[in-house]
Amino acid sequence: MSHLTVIIDVTNKCNMACKYCYAGSAWEGIPSAKDINESFNSKIPLLFEFTDQIMFYNKNNPTAFIFHGGEPLLLNPKNWSIVLSYFKEKGYPIEVHVQTNGTLINKEFINLFKEFNVKIGVSLDGPSSLNDQTRIFKSGKGSFSTIFKNLQKMKEAGLIFGCLFTLNKNNLDMVAIYDFFKKNNISFNIRSIFNTKFQVPKELLITPYEYALSFCKLFDLWFDDEIRPPLIGDFNNMVARFIKPLERLTTCTFTKDCSKDFIAFNMEGNLWPCNCLSDPDFYYGNIQEENMANLLNSPKVKELSNRWQRLSRTDCKDCEVSRYCYGGCPSRAYDYYGSYFNKDPFCEAWRMIFKHVYARIKSSLKNE
Ligand code: SF4
Ligand code: SF4
Ligand code: SF4
Repeated sequence: MSHLTVIIDVTNKCNMACKYCYAGSAWEGIPSAKDINESFNSKIPLLFEFTDQIMFYNKNNPTAFIFHGGEPLLLNPKNWSIVLSYFKEKGYPIEVHVQTNGTLINKEFINLFKEFNVKIGVSLDGPSSLNDQTRIFKSGKGSFSTIFKNLQKMKEAGLIFGCLFTLNKNNLDMVAIYDFFKKNNISFNIRSIFNTKFQVPKELLITPYEYALSFCKLFDLWFDDEIRPPLIGDFNNMVARFIKPLERLTTCTFTKDCSKDFIAFNMEGNLWPCNCLSDPDFYYGNIQEENMANLLNSPKVKELSNRWQRLSRTDCKDCEVSRYCYGGCPSRAYDYYGSYFNKDPFCEAWRMIFKHVYARIKSSLKNE
């Protein structure tokens, strides 16, 4: 039996219109907060039922719940309070994370999230000159000033947060990115833009080679910085993993079998291996029809677990960084090649990154 981290797909609606939106929300009209909240509220019993089942499955061990969207803060504080209070009343050791675009954070949210020790991840693509080229409101206006003000409020209130920036053709300037997050003392992580079924504009996409060059450049800036470098969680984890190669230390992309580590739930009661794999091919079933543990016992679910076994004999055979990479993300492979059992199309990037990072760590250990 595995231990699952939970991804809750709160809503697929969003108040923004990022040019590379992965969720398809950007191309819809302005969402109705009233409809979203009424609909969510009516489905809360399903979320509680799922929570009970997952906590039983995880043997009541500490479990991360990552609330995602669309934009999860389209839910009002009242709905949030009902959910967070339930976790507390049941005594569940749930660590709540919210991944938000950061534009709707207000005092009420800050107080609530502080009270329940919620960790916040804010999407921000660097300073305004870079962020506002892609992360825009539905009116076309850039989002930086709104988000930045909200980050200041969270900081003043002592709320735990970090930023996630998406590397795309418009923000490849790693020095500007690094300086911005360092100057403002904001911890962050880096992700690559990726194509989705919603067809991200081609001019924003980057190649694996471009991603690797930028990642390595950013790593070097951080690694060589002796004066209070910002916290970059993924880099810390890569260094830790070099010392002790535990799979789970880095992101889900570099695990042998992410379907054993993650499960995605939407408010209709549907389950998938991940919010990036919500295609009918990967649909596990609905908890209104079948208990989650039974759904996870199906041959279809077990088949997904064979990915690394297959790749280690095929695409990734003899790869010198396989013990760090494990074939990368199956969702990207599926989107790109149409098969879960292919290696990640960013393979070239992962090879370059692991070799570079570990060469740097080795040489620094030698010099000590
Ligand atoms: S904030 Fe997220 S969900 Fe909303 S438009 Fe941007 S990428 Fe899409
Ligand atoms: S499919 Fe990709 S994004 Fe989803 S959990 Fe697996 S590695 Fe992570
Ligand atoms: S770097 Fe490429 S070949 Fe090596 S394990 Fe990762 S995806 Fe497979």
